[in-house]
Amino acid sequence: MKRSDQLEQLRTEEFDCLVIGGGASGAGCALDSVLRGYKTALVEKTDFAAETSSKSTKLIHGGVRYLEQAFKNFDFAQLSQVRHGLEERHTVLKNAPHLARPLALVTPVFSWIEGLYFTIGLTIYGWFASGKDTLPGSKWLSKSEVKKRLPRLSDRIHSAVMYYDGQLDDARYCLAIAQTAAAKGGTVANHVEVNGFERDENGRLVAALATDLRTGEPVRIRAKVFINCTGPFADRIRLMANPQLSERIRPSKGVHAILPYEILGGEDALLIPKTPDGRVVFAIPFQGKLMLGTTDDDYDNLAKEPILDKREVDFLLETLNPYLNEKAQPEHVGAGFGGLRPLIAADPSKGTKGLVRDHEVEYDQNSSLVSLLGGKWTTYRLMAKDTIDFVEEKLLGEQRPCITDQQILVGGDNFDANQWQNLQQQTGLPEAICKHLNQHYGSAAPQLVEVLAENETWREPLHEQYPYLQGEVVYAARYEMACTVRDFLARRIRLEILDWDVAQQVSTKVAQAMGSELGWDQAQIESEAAAYGSLVQQFRVEAQV
Ligand SMILES: Cc1cc2nc3c(=O)[nH]c(=O)nc-3n(C[C@H](O)[C@H](O)[C@H](O)COP(=O)(O)OP(=O)(O)OC[C@H]3O[C@@H](n4cnc5c(N)ncnc54)[C@H](O)[C@@H]3O)c2cc1C
Repeated sequence: MKRSDQLEQLRTEEFDCLVIGGGASGAGCALDSVLRGYKTALVEKTDFAAETSSKSTKLIHGGVRYLEQAFKNFDFAQLSQVRHGLEERHTVLKNAPHLARPLALVTPVFSWIEGLYFTIGLTIYGWFASGKDTLPGSKWLSKSEVKKRLPRLSDRIHSAVMYYDGQLDDARYCLAIAQTAAAKGGTVANHVEVNGFERDENGRLVAALATDLRTGEPVRIRAKVFINCTGPFADRIRLMANPQLSERIRPSKGVHAILPYEILGGEDALLIPKTPDGRVVFAIPFQGKLMLGTTDDDYDNLAKEPILDKREVDFLLETLNPYLNEKAQPEHVGAGFGGLRPLIAADPSKGTKGLVRDHEVEYDQNSSLVSLLGGKWTTYRLMAKDTIDFVEEKLLGEQRPCITDQQILVGGDNFDANQWQNLQQQTGLPEAICKHLNQHYGSAAPQLVEVLAENETWREPLHEQYPYLQGEVVYAARYEMACTVRDFLARRIRLEILDWDVAQQVSTKVAQAMGSELGWDQAQIESEAAAYGSLVQQFRVEAQV
């Protein structure tokens, strides 16, 4: 994925499909379109998964809460959402096994009646899974069984019900989809923002007018079909294509706070089944930390990044603490992040938590813009399939089979969790580092090892507490299109969402390594590191931690 080559293609070639937005939806559409043999381009304003798709709870699930709502409200839309999620769970796990894994979730209960309720509910939940699904079914655990799995849980609990869903590294999964699209012949570029369109005499779109945000240069991209996958920002593109349209998206903010792993002290996740505002909250182990979230609030300032604030920290800790013997405190919060759900507007009098998370493919007759609206991470592949099916039928006049369910993503082919031992023999690096390299890069790890061999410094860790190496920055800039310090720290590795202190501390080293690959001078190295440092400082101020 050499960015300069991709930009040259964007400028000079004409595409069947141009996908706008490089989150899960856009990367998914680009891959599907490429695999059906269409000449496809994908452009992303910031970085792959920079917005919602790197800020999710990271569950591959049907949604137990949606199932409960479906039954309570006789709501078939919710039910089909659950069914879609559980059907896709198996495929998401299978196609990138280095980036996704089964996760046990434990729901503590305070009486046997509650235990019975959740056992019945979670058994029904399991029935919706795909026939190919291999995850274990749900199980009622005694108090002593659950305390063995999660030793820090409160002594007040009666028992717990355990079930399985999937967990993914959302940012790297999205990158792997985009990389696979590129490997199969697609043209993909990050830091390219679409800010206008050219039309023919009938008002139909013929070219997108974009800007390369790294250089400020204009990029005109010609295509037959334009697919808007900009998630919470979808209305901006819709109205750019046709100002007569009315707004459809109702963004909803959700945040997570990051705590030390030891707060819960086990490999399983905790599901808190009821919050004061009628939602569920998860405490999930993720890459050595505990991720606590989420919230659900209307959000209308799309120009401002939705970051974790003090009120949200307090709410999340108050929700978690009744389930612990030793209470978590605000000073335990080491990082946090917020994202915007791209919910489709329904009745404005309802809160966002009542809105269905299913997707819709919208077609604007006047401009011919296709927009993929709503949806969830879990169903990204299905959403992309529906979109490209529609595009084929309505606009391209063809019918080619969708094969994304069979497409193993970059890094996932022949993945073996024990491969870290070979990496260790080859490199002599410590076990924790080799495990991290294997899990992060999968079958692409040997290519990374070649980069490490170029320079002794690249074998050195960025920070002694974490397994990340300086050479990963070079690798990310060379092969994964990382262009900024934040591309690397927030999305190529996940340090920004795990540990603000350390992310800030290593930002200069990251800028230096990235600068050596991308040809930055000293002034640029310093300004990129300083800009990142102030951003993280702003996160701290807002969360007051
Ligand atoms: C707090 C939270 C928790 C969630 N948890 C889960 C979960 O556990 N499981 C699950 O299945 N789902 C979950 N979701 C939902 C899921 O994350 C989203 O549905 C999904 O990531 C949306 O992907 P997207 O590609 O549609 O949007 P985005 O990821 O936001 O991507 C849209 C992209 O378009 C780009 N863009 C915008 N304007 C332009 C432009 N003019 N030119 C070029 N590019 C542009 C943006 O930069 C952005 O990267 C969660 C969501 C939130 C907010």
